[in-house]
Amino acid sequence: MSEKLNQLKQILGEVSDLNHAASVLGWDEQVNMPPGGSEARGQQLATLGKIVQEKFTSDEVGRLLEDLKKEYSDAETDEGAMIRVASRNYEKAKLVPPSFVAEQAIVASKAFEAWVEAKSKSDFSIFQPHLEKVVELVKKYVSFFPPADHPYDILLDDFEPGMKTAEVREIFGNLRPKQVELIKAIASAKQVKDDFLHKKYNEKKLWDFSEKIIAEFGYDFSRGRQDKAPHPFETSFSVNDVRITNRFEEGSPLATIFSAMHESGHAMYEQGINPSYERTPLANGTSLAVHESQSRMWENLVGRSLPFCEHFFPELKKAFPSQLDGVTAKSFYKGINKVEPSFIRVNADEATYNLHIMLRLEIEIGMVDGSIAVKDLPEIWNAKMQEYLGIVPPNNAKGVLQDVHWSGGMIGYFSTYALGNIVSAQLWEAINKDIPDLEEQIRKGKFDSLLGWLREKIHVHGHKYDPQDLVQKATGERIDSAAYVRYLTKKYSGIYGL
Ligand code: MG
Repeated sequence: MSEKLNQLKQILGEVSDLNHAASVLGWDEQVNMPPGGSEARGQQLATLGKIVQEKFTSDEVGRLLEDLKKEYSDAETDEGAMIRVASRNYEKAKLVPPSFVAEQAIVASKAFEAWVEAKSKSDFSIFQPHLEKVVELVKKYVSFFPPADHPYDILLDDFEPGMKTAEVREIFGNLRPKQVELIKAIASAKQVKDDFLHKKYNEKKLWDFSEKIIAEFGYDFSRGRQDKAPHPFETSFSVNDVRITNRFEEGSPLATIFSAMHESGHAMYEQGINPSYERTPLANGTSLAVHESQSRMWENLVGRSLPFCEHFFPELKKAFPSQLDGVTAKSFYKGINKVEPSFIRVNADEATYNLHIMLRLEIEIGMVDGSIAVKDLPEIWNAKMQEYLGIVPPNNAKGVLQDVHWSGGMIGYFSTYALGNIVSAQLWEAINKDIPDLEEQIRKGKFDSLLGWLREKIHVHGHKYDPQDLVQKATGERIDSAAYVRYLTKKYSGIYGL
């Protein structure tokens, strides 16, 4: 290995250490920190962020990358891939002035406060001037980069490297009419029962049950742990320390089990990355969509499938005999898959979820290209809800104000959720070709060949390939919604007798 490569790896290793230290602080903030620690923690994170920025965008890193790009030009090699990803991150970081980053942080923090108040009062006018500022800064951010086919491409690229607005629009454009048609068919079928979901369940018992399930899936507790936090999330400090959080909601107790499955899907991805990538820019999942494909697969394609219900329901019923009295594996399966158009994205079922995303994507693109003014958002939101889901929220808290993302300047993020669903179904078809008795294995509670497939085709590669290339390598196709439509149609035809 060349001396220069060693020098670069040394610096990137330190950058990675600092980033992971910041992640530990962030995890602690959500899990352990008393409220009084908030201000000091903000300062600590800002200091670490500044040191990372200085270290990573130094002229020395620029010179090393420039020289090494020629020497390691083959991106199929690990070294070549590392240089490619580091160079891309470096060029992006250099284009955005530190003063802008600081300004954006201040605007976002004020916008977040305004959003909290606006949402609690269901009053969009409180949030409107802040969101206008956020959008203004997002446009300014775009202006730092060389022109793209569409200005939104630049935002999308931060979450989904290499993905174009036109590609996402085409994928969603193919999906939307089919998903709308399916929901209409379900609406005229007989509704399934799910009253057992809303009974009282013991928190500790559910928590233990959730850990038992994800340990069976293959989440390695010797390199991970599950803690309580206000929102479920996954965070990684090393391939050997990948943590998840979870919560208990009185109104929706079994969500604890499904959230554990979801977050363990993210975590198993991070636990499966090639250990030799540790402390390099390759030691992460490649994109948010591919990450979400992993979490959605374990939560939905495995966790909400009939074979899995047949495997785990008898034990769940043993733990909660009174709550599940009269419920069978089959009726449990139907109940947890109930479809009903609803206002809130995070509570949406699999059949309606992507429509919530498509609505947000169209609005985001409009805000960025100037065709939609922030002041018109509530009206546009409600019109699109009517068009896509056939319902109109009773107020803005249940409509345009429901999500936190825009207050933090995160525009370009939402579509990755829907892309994740789409990718999960594509991978699932490929897996079922390679493992023909997969359903039977799941019914027996065996997940090792499924996890083995994901390890080999997805996890081990970390950030080596961009999402489209990774999906192509694993399935032979680029990201496309056809498999997802087949999956939804088959599943809901069975449940609703369509
Ligand atoms: Mg997720």
